[in-house]
Amino acid sequence: MLKDAFAGDLTVADEGRVVRLAGWVHRRRDHGGLIFLDLRDSHGLVQVVVDPENATAHAAAHRVRAEWVIAVEGVVRRRAPETVNAAMPTGEVEVAPQRVEVLNEALTPPFAVNDESEVDELVRLRHRYVELRRPGVAAVIRLRHEVVRFMRGFLSARGFAEIETPTLIKSTPEGARDFLVPSRLRRGEFFALPQSPQILKELLMVGGFERYFQMARCYRDEDTRANRVAEHTQLDLEMSFVEEADVMALVEELFTEVAERFGGGRRLARTPFPRFDYADALARYGTDRPDLRFGLEFTDVGEAVRDSEFQVFARALAEGGVVRAVRVPGQAEMPRRAIDALVETARGGGARGLANVGFLAGGELRSPIARFLSAEETARLRALTGAADGDMLFLVADRAEVAAASLALVRAELGRRLDLIDRDVLSFAWVTGFPLLEWRPEEGRWDATHNPFCGFVEEDAPLLERDPGAVRSKQYDLVLNGAEIAGGSVRIHRRAAQERVFRLMGYDDAEMRTRFGVLLDALEYGAPPMGGIASGIDRVLMELTGTDNIRDVIAFPKASSGGDPLMDAPRPVSDEQLAELGLRLAPPASG
Ligand code: ASP
Repeated sequence: MLKDAFAGDLTVADEGRVVRLAGWVHRRRDHGGLIFLDLRDSHGLVQVVVDPENATAHAAAHRVRAEWVIAVEGVVRRRAPETVNAAMPTGEVEVAPQRVEVLNEALTPPFAVNDESEVDELVRLRHRYVELRRPGVAAVIRLRHEVVRFMRGFLSARGFAEIETPTLIKSTPEGARDFLVPSRLRRGEFFALPQSPQILKELLMVGGFERYFQMARCYRDEDTRANRVAEHTQLDLEMSFVEEADVMALVEELFTEVAERFGGGRRLARTPFPRFDYADALARYGTDRPDLRFGLEFTDVGEAVRDSEFQVFARALAEGGVVRAVRVPGQAEMPRRAIDALVETARGGGARGLANVGFLAGGELRSPIARFLSAEETARLRALTGAADGDMLFLVADRAEVAAASLALVRAELGRRLDLIDRDVLSFAWVTGFPLLEWRPEEGRWDATHNPFCGFVEEDAPLLERDPGAVRSKQYDLVLNGAEIAGGSVRIHRRAAQERVFRLMGYDDAEMRTRFGVLLDALEYGAPPMGGIASGIDRVLMELTGTDNIRDVIAFPKASSGGDPLMDAPRPVSDEQLAELGLRLAPPASG
């Protein structure tokens, strides 16, 4: 080794020790006489003070620039009390070198490593290897390692085997588009990259493993959205002979420990994790991913305004819709402009409008619809929502889905704007009771709400053909601070039931055999009852570190445009490569 100590580890306990350090010049200050170098390595920084008396070392220190790679040999000494830097973990010591050696020079980096100022994404990603040196950036990648290592240990200790599954496979549907890989040896045929190892992990259960996990890379060719990346890593696990509660208990224990160890001192909001029924989550928070770090729950106020003179309410209810309200404490006098902005927010969820009623002191109303509201209606609104003097109600009257989506946006916006979100907690919640199937009007068929392998509540089996939308699934999702961080289910483990679900989804026997033949066959060779879950590691790290950019938690992420500016991919390939694969590009679509 060219070094026998790490810069970031040195403390007063090392006083007098001669160390050999190697790393990067983080900062260099030349005071004419003494030269101060902050030497950085993977453990942190230490100050190196080069005295002009040591002419060779001084000449080398004089030459170096930020990000040059150097080796230093010297003695660790205590700093004089007035030069102690309390902000630096090694701030009580410094190194006085006998030797400073340049191991490699470096070009001036495209952006500074020693401050974490904002840099354009393309520039950052193109030089990601430089950005990774920024201590804050590196700390997140290291934390990711610690979290993953902990998960591996936790599961291994509970009898799970880590098993790799192939990535050149046949499509396993998780509701996204597949990435395809053309086969050279079997021209005209394609592998698909896994959207998840779902079928393979079920086959491992049929194979008798009982407990499997994997840090699985999954590929979904979706249009790029802020927090979607084409490839993501999930902690994927599967267990045999379990029911929903067993998987949930294990995962709850795992994430409780993850939060306690890696939550950066944030409290766990509630244990055991609260549970919501899907329909209940939608009614109370407008989403199946409720952020419980703040209040502002919705109330159904239909019965208060059923006979309202305000036609918008009465009509929505008569047409089978709902009137839902969110009560905002102390905001009865919210400025007009702020209210108008919220109306726009609500429109983003499809609502045609957002009614507002402020309860002023003395019983007076501040509301554009005040004249339509009878004293009795007002009293009922207050009783149902618990509105006190000084509170504001925002109401949406519409179809239930529209009211949910619109009020959810309003709630999120209020949470941000009024600074209601408690940043010191990690707030987990389970959501269960999802419908097994959803109607896809544009395709005229039923589709799996999650994936087609999800099990259903046995007593609902007779409803499968009669009323597919009413069948309850055995799906469970885990939400953290309003983000879905895991989802899984107890599976269908009998062929006949799996075929019934495929049939409802519109597959005929031939299609079923081509697409899912291997699974259907395996289910007939002694498939045990099984269930599992997958947790998006990127999402988990985002929540633990409090970033809203998924790219911050990935060592080499794609850019928001979907491409890879570092490796410069994707790129065209040569005609020879295409010919080998038996492919020809269609001429660009003219238009
Ligand atoms: N395969 C599912 C997914 O990737 C997770 C699971 O059900 O285990 O979303």
